[in-house]
Amino acid sequence: MLCEKCNTSMEPDEMREHGGLKLCEDCYIDAISPAKTCDPWATYTASRLDTQELNAAQETILKLIGEQGHASLADLIKATGLEEAALMREIASLRHMELVRGAMMPDGGKAFKHFKDQD
Ligand SMILES: [Zn+2]
Repeated sequence: MLCEKCNTSMEPDEMREHGGLKLCEDCYIDAISPAKTCDPWATYTASRLDTQELNAAQETILKLIGEQGHASLADLIKATGLEEAALMREIASLRHMELVRGAMMPDGGKAFKHFKDQD
């Protein structure tokens, strides 16, 4: 099936509904992110910052991923103490900074990895 926003093909189990659209995970995270994702400069400038200001939750996320190689949503909720929606906003910010990305684990579970890690 295709994401109704970016037209990326996705597996049906990756589909997220938001605002009446069937979205891929990336678009879903963008949709729930407070960042103005319609602004192409947001990603552009964020990915070009040499010194990136991370908040405590973002540092916790990166640290856990660094220690484990990857971290599941449940791991990150436990580590940061954030609710899922708040955590997803931090992950969305980290994705815009090209520090973190979603990944599929061998067991089929969802996890997050450092942006530059290959599957
Ligand atoms: Zn999409």
